[in-house]
Amino acid sequence: MNVKGMYRLVIVGGGTAGWMAAAALRRSFSALPYTVTLIESDEIGTVGVGEATIPPMIQFNDMLGLDENAFLKAVNGTFKLGIRFKDWSAPGSDYFHPFGVYGVDMGGLNFNHYWMRYQKAGGSADFGLFNPQTLAARANRFGRMKEINPNVPAVNYAFHFDASLYARYLRDVCVQRGVVRKEGRITEVQQDPDNGDVTAVVLASGERIEGDLFIDCSGFRGLLIEQTLKSGYEDWSKWLPCNRAVAVPCDKVDPLTPYTTSTAREAGWQWRIPLQHRTGNGYVFCDSYLSEETASDLLMQRLDGQAQAEPRVIRFQTGHRKQMWNHNVIAMGLASGFLEPLESTSIWLVQEAIATLQLYFPRGGITDTARACFNRAMLDAYTNVKDFLIAHYKVTTREDTPFWSYCKHMDIPDSLQFRLDSFRENNQPLVRPQDLFKEASWFAVLAGQGLMPQSYHPGADVMPDDEFRWRIQKVREGTTGLVNMMPGHEAYIAKTCASP
Ligand code: FAD
Repeated sequence: MNVKGMYRLVIVGGGTAGWMAAAALRRSFSALPYTVTLIESDEIGTVGVGEATIPPMIQFNDMLGLDENAFLKAVNGTFKLGIRFKDWSAPGSDYFHPFGVYGVDMGGLNFNHYWMRYQKAGGSADFGLFNPQTLAARANRFGRMKEINPNVPAVNYAFHFDASLYARYLRDVCVQRGVVRKEGRITEVQQDPDNGDVTAVVLASGERIEGDLFIDCSGFRGLLIEQTLKSGYEDWSKWLPCNRAVAVPCDKVDPLTPYTTSTAREAGWQWRIPLQHRTGNGYVFCDSYLSEETASDLLMQRLDGQAQAEPRVIRFQTGHRKQMWNHNVIAMGLASGFLEPLESTSIWLVQEAIATLQLYFPRGGITDTARACFNRAMLDAYTNVKDFLIAHYKVTTREDTPFWSYCKHMDIPDSLQFRLDSFRENNQPLVRPQDLFKEASWFAVLAGQGLMPQSYHPGADVMPDDEFRWRIQKVREGTTGLVNMMPGHEAYIAKTCASP
């Protein structure tokens, strides 16, 4: 703490993570004697990818007091109802992981159990019929239900956006709200010779910026957390072997889909993310099975619009820092670790790190307890997402290439094996309250990939047949009715949040 009693928070890095942290921490502690300074380097730039999000982003923007339509206009945003997975289970397969539940809980039981009863009695094998996001995605429809009809249930959604524009948008908000922005390359990190804490960073210009707590958002390089403090890295690539992505934007083609598409490819998968002004594309792959040149060529051949740039290769290693909070440095974003973008979770992990720091923020000085709580909570969040991602690769029938053969036969963590066994036996994927992915998500992905539970909860058989059939019919009609209220996705954007 400096002589004026101000607590000095210094954020290193101005990508999505840095500006999200600055905006949130400035807002949370605006009544307290804190200063927030963010340093970014135009020369180094940002990673420049990260276009798909999940629903908690809405709460994050709400917490900042951002107007959703103004935000979407600023970032060329579109709406996202889930992810369409093509060719994952087998070539030609196609399923949807929606942001929301199937049907309605009846008698305290998850609807999946009732759906299994319905199917056993000869009902349709298409469980998407009971989920509004899936039906709306198929019909390219979208609308916020609170605007269309506030008396019907909400339909969860998230966004696709231009990540660089989002960082810029947050930067403007932050600077207006008192965050001090410094532009320049950090060339030196100074530490307390007694305890090893970081005391200051020095820019190429010679300017020295002191701090009490440093948030390392410097991207994959981990300038403070790794290059300075050597926190160590836990490598998870034996379970998630992809270690490269090649990305390229292309011209937008109609229709503007309200979902991300993930198509399994020979050595990984390809994303397609529609924005208002362009489509983002990328091939996530493992370089032991495919060269960067071949992956780039294949991606360029598989675009559905004219490429707008040369393909760009990004290298990564799946895993996380062994200590995400070490000394007085807390890593967030790519500096803290990386899980491939299969379920669009990286920005959420930034959000989770911010929320966790808000819980344990060092009001009276950093303590070992606060550090341990933060590290434990973040490791849990990473582990949980990791297991869900691995399930996508493991539960496949594909063996048509060496990559898929490896994935199908690889050993998996015990924590995931346990869930898969429990799901297979009883339709219970052992979801805990703090888990990001709930029962409906596990059901969508595992059943979507062809792993059907052998049995369901006996409580789902209690309802008499007539009542059961009537209820199922009502749920189906209600789901279809909700979707029929929605306009086309593109028309809705044109009306509410079209970018200038
Ligand atoms: P960066 O964007 O790399 O920012 C680092 C910052 O640190 C920059 O401002 C840089 O200038 C600064 N910096 C570094 N060194 C110095 C220095 N010496 N001096 C001064 N400043 C410095 N996430 C999702 O949620 N959804 C997705 O769909 C998604 N897709 C992705 C696809 C790929 C291929 C990759 C690699 C990531 C994806 N992500 C996605 C992750 C997402 O891009 C990142 O989590 C997010 O952009 C945060 O990045 P960052 O801010 O941590 O790092």
